[in-house]
Formats: sequence, C-alpha cells, structure tokens
Amino acid sequence: MPLHLYNTLSGKVEEFAPSQDNTVRMYACGPTVYDYGHIGNFRTFVAVDILRRFLRQSGHKLQHVMNITDVDDKIIRNAARDKKTVQEYTRKYEEAFLEDMGSLNLERPERLVRATEHIPAMAEFIAALEKKGFAYRTEDGSYYFRIAMFPEYGKLSKKDFGGMETGARVDVDEYEKDNARDFALWKSPKEGEAFWESSIGPGRPGWHIECSVMSMKYLGDSFDLHAGGEDLTFPHHENEIAQSEALTGKIFSRHWMHVRFLLVEGEKMSKSAGNFFTLRDLLVKGHKPSSIRFLLTSVPYRKQLNFTMAGLEQAAKSVERLRTFAARMRMMRLPAGTNPAAQEAAAKARREMRAGMEDDLNTAYASAAVFDMVREMNTLADHGELREGDKAPSLEVLELFDEIFAVMKDDDADKMKAAMEWAREHGLVGEAAKTISDEEVNRLIEERNAAKKARDFARSDALRKQLADGGIVLEDTKDGTRWKRK
Ligand code: AMP
Ligand code: ZN
Repeated sequence: MPLHLYNTLSGKVEEFAPSQDNTVRMYACGPTVYDYGHIGNFRTFVAVDILRRFLRQSGHKLQHVMNITDVDDKIIRNAARDKKTVQEYTRKYEEAFLEDMGSLNLERPERLVRATEHIPAMAEFIAALEKKGFAYRTEDGSYYFRIAMFPEYGKLSKKDFGGMETGARVDVDEYEKDNARDFALWKSPKEGEAFWESSIGPGRPGWHIECSVMSMKYLGDSFDLHAGGEDLTFPHHENEIAQSEALTGKIFSRHWMHVRFLLVEGEKMSKSAGNFFTLRDLLVKGHKPSSIRFLLTSVPYRKQLNFTMAGLEQAAKSVERLRTFAARMRMMRLPAGTNPAAQEAAAKARREMRAGMEDDLNTAYASAAVFDMVREMNTLADHGELREGDKAPSLEVLELFDEIFAVMKDDDADKMKAAMEWAREHGLVGEAAKTISDEEVNRLIEERNAAKKARDFARSDALRKQLADGGIVLEDTKDGTRWKRK
C-alpha cells in the first residue's frame, strides 16, 4: 500500500505520491528566529522529519525546502530595542536552532533559506501582483493583497468570508483569527526600524510573501506538499495560496499537512502559565534528547499530544528498552538455526510498522509493533528458545524503525553536556534549576543513595554535582538526605 496522508485542502486522507518523477518537492515553514525553539515548535519539526525519513525509506528522493524567518515585526522591534542589526539579532537564534535540530536528530532539509536573502525577489513578486490587479499600494508606500479579487480565499481553512469588508486591511503579523482582511505584502519603513531598499520602494516584506517566493523559487509554481503547525492554516497558508495562485493561475501546493498543537501538562503552553519549555530548558534539566524525540513521535501528528514530565520519563524507559534489546541481540551467544515463532515476530513487526506509517503516519501503531516484537523475542530468549538466525531479522526491524524514529544511538550524554556548557556560559544554570520539580530532586537523590550504597562514588558525586548545578543543596544526616533550594 502506498502512503496515505490527510490533506487539509481536500479535508480527506489521500494517497500521496510525487507528481513528477520520483522526487517529492516539499516546503515546510521554518522557525521565526527571535528566540530559542520550544517543544511546540519541535513537535511540528519532528513530525515533518518523520515524514521525510519515511518518504526516503520508501524510495523517494527529496527536495525539501525550509525557510528561516529572519525578518518580522517582533524581530525588527527587538533588534531596534537591543541596538543591533536584524542579522546580528537573528544569527544567534538561527545557530541555536540548527544545533537544536542536531540534538533531536532532525535531518537537514535539502535547502534552508533565509527570508532576508530573497527580498528583491519578493519585491518583484509584489510588483507582478500589482500589475495583475491583485495588489495595491497605499499612500505610505505599503502594499496589500486585495482578497476580494481571489474568490477561492478560505478554501484551505474552510472559512466562509462571505460577509467580509472589502478594502479593510491588516498590517500586523499577529492576526485576528476569523477576520479576513486585505493583508500586507510589503510594509513601509517605520521610524528607527530596519528597512530594505527595493524595486517597489523602501520597506520590509510581510510574513506570508516570503514563503510563497521561496517555495516557488526552489520548487516551481506547483509542488507536492506544504507543511506547518495547525496555527499556520489561517491566515499564513491561506494567504500563501492566494498570493501564489493569483500570480500563476496554477495550483500552488497539491497537498497540505498540518500538525496539531501540543499541550503541556494538559494545558496550552504559555510563558505566563509556567509550562513553557524550550528544548534547551529540558536538556539542562537532565532530560535526554532521545526521550524528548521519542515522546514527540509517540502520538500521531494529527492527534493532540499532551507533553508531561511523566510521559518524558516513560519515553526514556521505552528508548532504554529498545537499546537494551539491541545490545542483548548483538551479544547473546545462541545455538545455530532459527525459531519460526521468532521469525514470524520479526516479519510481523516489519509489516505492521510499514502499515502504520502508511496509514497517515501512525507512529504510535508503528512503534507498538516494534515493542511487541521486543517483548516476544525477550520471552523466547528468556526461555532459551531463540536461535542465532533470529538475531538478524530482529535487528533489521530495529534498523528500519530507527531510520524513521532515530533514537537508538546512545549519544545523549554528549548532547546534554553541550547544553549544560551553553547554559553555564549564558549564566542560565541557576535559572533553569528553579524549574526542577521536587519529584525530580527526590528521584536524583534516590539514585545518588543507590550509587553510594553500591560504592559507586564517582556516580554519587556526579549526581550531587548535577543537583548543585541545579541550585539544590544536599545535607546528609543520620536520618537520610535533606535538601533545599539555594
Ligand atoms: P514559529 O517559530 O513561531 O514561526 O513556529 C515554527 C513552527 O512551530 C510552526 O510550524 C508552528 O506552527 C509550530 N508551532 C508553534 N507552536 C506549536 C505548538 N504548541 N505545537 C505544535 N506546533 C507548534
Ligand atoms: Zn511559511
């Protein structure tokens, strides 16, 4: 069976295949680099990574473009506030984002492109829209898209804009969700803020135009798939469709994939609710990148994932189980031959993993198939019923699994160390520590007690240090270990 994927545009699960040759041409909206990436962002980026890895495993070639939004209202405001150029302000976050991608084993798209390096092309695009009557210039030198000229407006988000006010405009990047207004393609300069000279005058691009211009430049007027988090459906993607299809008269992206927003501890993630985590926050708090990646893949992309600390610990155990199993298979000495039950367990896991992924990337089903195999194989091994010839098929299943899930390689410690060094350099260690939960402190203390009991003093010292770095002071008394926050 080929891959079936939900298409927001048609509202249906459809067979997905590239339209020309064997190459999938896809565009994914990338990060706005004004801050460090949070786990909500990475929920979406991991989902897109899973798609690309599965497409490659299925024999496709990829031409995957991702933009870096290094210009928008917030960036321009923050750069002006910090007396930096836009480039100085954004580069630090862009580099951090690329490092974070590495921590989570996200494959690099074939092309990563910056908005600020495509400004002349954006100006040309806008001029061409104006020529066709789809864009107009206002007195201050800004340009807007005339949505009344594009009757299909709303076809992606399925919103009915029948009663919309013609000529009403919006020029901020933060939108009212249900209101259709002519949107800004180009904004004239504001006092004290960065702007670019261009063929349509000085100013800066609106947010939507960058994705239309960069996707079409590298993928052509029409391409196979466009992806992003569900919040981008409207207005961002709706506006991309309007701009692009108005200009070319051709279908822009055939397929649209949107990733459901994640919740943290059952709530919408927000800084004010105290449940906002960057990837770095979690690494500095001692969570493994492989656990984070595994948790982010554990729920299929269209279902709501509730990211919890308990879930993260469970994910760590799941990854550990797989790694232990792989090590066991590699090391075990077994009698020659094969056991048909083991052979069938591996074949079934292979089949079901594929069937799960083909079913709208059902990662939960696919990984469950692998865990079933691990359980069966472990039981057979415990009973002395496994044979030498059973190892290879089960290890192959794990390899196929890992081509997509990418959690088997045990390189967590190095990545966490790098995150800790970064936090120390930025004076963030104490800060991150404030968020270490009591539960985690108690768990680390228990681990330290166990290490002491086993006379593993190097380990117990390391745990004391980890706690100290987190601002936790220990006091060993005859009644046990007491602790307080610095
Ligand atoms: P931004 O850096 O805000 O432009 O967002 C980058 C990507 O992360 C976009 O595709 C967003 O839709 C996605 N995103 C932001 N918050 C969340 C969330 N809580 N859950 C899932 N995806 C998100
Ligand atoms: Zn975009």
